[in-house]
Amino acid sequence: MQISVIIPLYHEEAIIDLMAQRLINVSQTDWEWIFVDDGSQDKTVEKLRPWLDRFDHWQLIRFSRNFGQQNAFRAGLNAAKGKAVVFLDADLQDPPEKMIDLIQEWKKGFKVVVGVRLSRTERGLRGFLFRSFHQLFYRLTNGVMPKNSGTFGLMDRVIVEELKRMPERSVLFQGLRGWVGYSRSTIEYHRSARIGGEVKQTYAKLFTQAWDGITSFSTLPIQWISNLGLIISLFGFLYAVFLLSIKGLQFFGKLQTLEVPGFTTVSVAVLCLGGVQLIATGILGQYLARVYHEVKQRPTYIVESHESRGV
Ligand code: UDP
Ligand code: MG
Repeated sequence: MQISVIIPLYHEEAIIDLMAQRLINVSQTDWEWIFVDDGSQDKTVEKLRPWLDRFDHWQLIRFSRNFGQQNAFRAGLNAAKGKAVVFLDADLQDPPEKMIDLIQEWKKGFKVVVGVRLSRTERGLRGFLFRSFHQLFYRLTNGVMPKNSGTFGLMDRVIVEELKRMPERSVLFQGLRGWVGYSRSTIEYHRSARIGGEVKQTYAKLFTQAWDGITSFSTLPIQWISNLGLIISLFGFLYAVFLLSIKGLQFFGKLQTLEVPGFTTVSVAVLCLGGVQLIATGILGQYLARVYHEVKQRPTYIVESHESRGV
């Protein structure tokens, strides 16, 4: 098998046929297509089955429930036999025709080839959040993920084997494949709108994924807390000096005792500090939760069935 393409599916009944048509046009005989149904409750699987029956190298891994896109990728990686593996979304926002470009770069010897978006259709809040995450992630991780890239990309078998060796549970594969190292190249493309259906990565899922990505690559948020604590303490100290000087001046009769309305100061200080402390404990707690999550050693996904024909 030359190329394995992994496609996660979650409630994609609206686009299965459109998707399959497009894929057939690019598919080659020595490619395998691994669809991972991430616990869809709709007709995704029924819609896909006739296509599975038609083609030898199409296979379906079904999860027992929704485990998330990253785990779908993980299951795909574990099943893939290709010399190179491609991540592709079912909604074809990333054009499958561009896989030819990915492969071309791979054949030049690059071990990771990532699609970089010249444009994306997400606007408004979603677009803003995507951009902010990518900026932040780029800074925190010293660029393991090229700017404006996403899941769409190709990995050589050596990278896949390294990823499979990683025991951690909360992962962001699009980041990890860069972390492994080796030579990397990019191709450019325009990211279009979904071919149909509604977006499946809800804000909640995207936030979880973004936070998983950040915390699995960096402990900088914990450092931010200490820095914030330092800054606040410094201000507190300066303010204390200021208050004490006033008291001193009053004591030596240089300043008249004034009725100082201190309520605002006190409540602002209490509220701000209280808020900061809660955020700080929260962030620490999140890291601790990750440790707990890793230590539990639960499987990250459960396969209900694995259907393939002729493979
Ligand atoms: N997806 C999944 N599990 C989920 C959510 C999404 O497997 O819990 C799949 C979905 O079917 C699609 C891909 O992940 O193939 C990307 O999802 P979507 O297009 O909704 O999000 P985007 O990344 O484009 O914002
Ligand atoms: Mg999409």
